[in-house]
Amino acid sequence: MPAQPAPFRIVVLGAGFAGLRTVGELCKRRARLGSTCELTLIDRAPHHVYWPLLYEVCTALEETDPKDVCADDLQAGICLRVDDYVNILRKKRVRFLRGDVQGVDREQKVVKLDGGRTVPFDVIVFALGTTTATFNIPGVAEQAYTMKSVEHALAIRERLKSFINAYVHGEEARISVLVAGAGPTGTEFSAELGNFFHRLVKSGILRPADFEIRLVEAGPDILPMCSPAIRARARERLAELGVSIMTDTKVTKLEKGRITLEMKTEKGEETRDFEADVVVWSGGIRPLDIIKALDVQLDEKGYISVEPTLEVKGFEQAFALGDCAGIVHPVSGKRVPALGQAAVKEAAIVAENITRRLQRVGLVSWTPPERWITVVPLGGKYAIADFGAFHLHGLMGYAVRKAADLLYFLSVLPLVQAVQLWMKGAVVYMKND
Ligand SMILES: Cc1cc2nc3c(=O)[nH]c(=O)nc-3n(C[C@H](O)[C@H](O)[C@H](O)COP(=O)(O)OP(=O)(O)OC[C@H]3O[C@@H](n4cnc5c(N)ncnc54)[C@H](O)[C@@H]3O)c2cc1C
Repeated sequence: MPAQPAPFRIVVLGAGFAGLRTVGELCKRRARLGSTCELTLIDRAPHHVYWPLLYEVCTALEETDPKDVCADDLQAGICLRVDDYVNILRKKRVRFLRGDVQGVDREQKVVKLDGGRTVPFDVIVFALGTTTATFNIPGVAEQAYTMKSVEHALAIRERLKSFINAYVHGEEARISVLVAGAGPTGTEFSAELGNFFHRLVKSGILRPADFEIRLVEAGPDILPMCSPAIRARARERLAELGVSIMTDTKVTKLEKGRITLEMKTEKGEETRDFEADVVVWSGGIRPLDIIKALDVQLDEKGYISVEPTLEVKGFEQAFALGDCAGIVHPVSGKRVPALGQAAVKEAAIVAENITRRLQRVGLVSWTPPERWITVVPLGGKYAIADFGAFHLHGLMGYAVRKAADLLYFLSVLPLVQAVQLWMKGAVVYMKND
């Protein structure tokens, strides 16, 4: 009997935007990859999370509806079970392994997982994302909620729910929320919250003086990646929603219920304490600690160094993409931003290059776009969609946002499942829009 050819094992670490799409793109190339090719996707979490809708989870409260939406329903609108995804691809012979990646042995060509498990590979793809950067500011890691965790989003929602209950029974008098970091995530969360409180005011549940939202930014303006015109429009919208913006202001300490801010004033720097019942930290991202155990070359910021082909520098069998990779634009020299849109584009390059490597043909290089489309939802049925040459705002911007969500789900799932997932989110989240 002829000997069975050895399997060719492709292992993808991380089932986020980058990893999930890499598997999808590899499946499209299944015939070219050959029958011996085995695909394994590994993630510690059972779900793929669609982060752009996370802020909706925090405020999905229907105060007048006695049947409250349960946490599972809320999660269902942004979480896709990886098992279900892999099941859709079952004919393409993909398996999903739940496990915590703890390192890579390059010599042995194995990934080390929790519990002493190992997974052999011939090609490995790093798509592990990042974590929240708290810059060692005392109290932030312990006391603040982050916008990079479904659990935190649900906890914020619980806190808002318990506040409203206590408020209507006269047990709490007011609530103050401080959002640190005015990039898209912090800005959209502040606006969402402003809209949520305004709805409560309109329905006579909350007095306007009894809530406070501060959006604090260390830099000179909010939304630094947007044009001045868009920033001005966003500021206007935030003001309408009762969000006060504090720029040139740094968080220096956080204690339960109290935050210390250092502000640049005309007289110099001033440090003041503010009351803050809820603090949401969206001050930035940093490489995961685990990256150091992957035996890969890192750039000066600690991200994985890659070639324009997205191969890991000095590690022939490895590719890296998404937020964990330090990808630089070949002409401008600028870092590719940490965006889901970038991750999915990179996934097509990685899948193509793995296939080409197997076929022993030259690899393709990636030239990222110079500009990315930014859509910032700003509470209710209002968003600003920045296309560079022009922008749409208000309901038109909101329609772009909703269309982008649906297009993403359609890009990973068959039509019916994609629409179902989108609808799940639409039904529970749009009530607040
Ligand atoms: C609140 C929010 C809103 C956003 N909005 C937008 C937007 O509107 N548009 C846009 O383009 N981008 C947006 N982004 C950015 C976008 O989500 C990221 O750029 C994108 O998720 C990066 O994809 P990734 O696969 O590299 O990382 P991730 O999506 O973070 O995936 C990494 C995966 O690796 C897994 N993992 C990590 N460590 C381990 C380990 N040790 N073992 C096993 N598994 C591990 C994680 O569980 C996760 O599933 C947003 C991000 C956030 C947080």
